[in-house]
Amino acid sequence: MAQTRDRRSPRELETLWKESDMSGGRKVDAMVAIMRTNGCVWAKTGGCTMCGYKTASLTGVTVDDLMSQVDQMMSRYKGEPFVKLYTSGSFLDENEVPVPVRERIFREFAGCERLLFESRPEFITEEVLRTLPKNVTIALGMETSDPEVMEISIRKGFTPEDSRRVGTMIKAAGLKVRTYLLLKPPFMLEGRAIESAVESVRFAAPFSDEISINPVNVQKATYVERLWKRGEYRSPWIWSLIEVFKRCAGTVDCRLMSSPSGGGSQRGVHNCGKCDREALDAVERFSYSQDVKDLAVSCECLKTWKAYLSSELMLGTASDLDRGIGGDLIVRK
Ligand code: SF4
Ligand SMILES: [Zn+2]
Repeated sequence: MAQTRDRRSPRELETLWKESDMSGGRKVDAMVAIMRTNGCVWAKTGGCTMCGYKTASLTGVTVDDLMSQVDQMMSRYKGEPFVKLYTSGSFLDENEVPVPVRERIFREFAGCERLLFESRPEFITEEVLRTLPKNVTIALGMETSDPEVMEISIRKGFTPEDSRRVGTMIKAAGLKVRTYLLLKPPFMLEGRAIESAVESVRFAAPFSDEISINPVNVQKATYVERLWKRGEYRSPWIWSLIEVFKRCAGTVDCRLMSSPSGGGSQRGVHNCGKCDREALDAVERFSYSQDVKDLAVSCECLKTWKAYLSSELMLGTASDLDRGIGGDLIVRK
């Protein structure tokens, strides 16, 4: 039987897995843990339009609960050089990760090459940065460099300038920055989404060591899901993600990457279905090599994607043309 929200123990991690990532210019083993905390402060006010984390957080999670989650983490840790800790919110928000827990985590992972966590800018101050160890990378969910898109379409609750300010501060403190950008926020034409992502990469590059492009994955109980169910939103094409990389590769001094969640499904970034695996593998290869030659994929749906870009421009709509015009109404689950 599926676990309900109330039955999720605050003493256990949401999940933990091992994967690969980059550290010191080479591919290394990484451990990823998702902690259960009191949740994102912004999600409690309604949150961002594409974020499903409102349903992921708990209330009343104590220091003792979090220490138990750290114990669980340490029992699975096998000395991976890269450790990524996510909280479905901000690691530097003391309401989510109180200082004693934070300090224990820093001690436990003092020997690893990279320790990455996410934070909203309001929790990043000069004072806090002074307390962080030098192996830290802070991930900033900037999403876009367009202030209007950030406010109206994403409802982020801060501005691109806030990200630039804290990104610059993090770098000055000798730490690393991974910036997340969102490919195709709601209400945006696919073609415009490509241009906007390219502009955002250029904006973020000066204060980022890495830029990770996250194509929208339609999460449950979100505003984006409502639009998607009505046929008013299509997750981006993998061709669009590849296009962003092709346009940016070699033009910025930071690593470009993407590891899309839900890739190849109707809710995630997808092409025709036949070439999705191959295209996603190409994206993964490029994320390590930075070599555009690794993006060479072909499929007959490349023509459909080009037609999609020009049709939506002609019709002036960001609705899902695959469904609205193609006639193949797909029942979404
Ligand atoms: S995307 Fe990040 S900042 Fe926005 S509501 Fe979700 S967890 Fe909070
Ligand atoms: Zn295809």
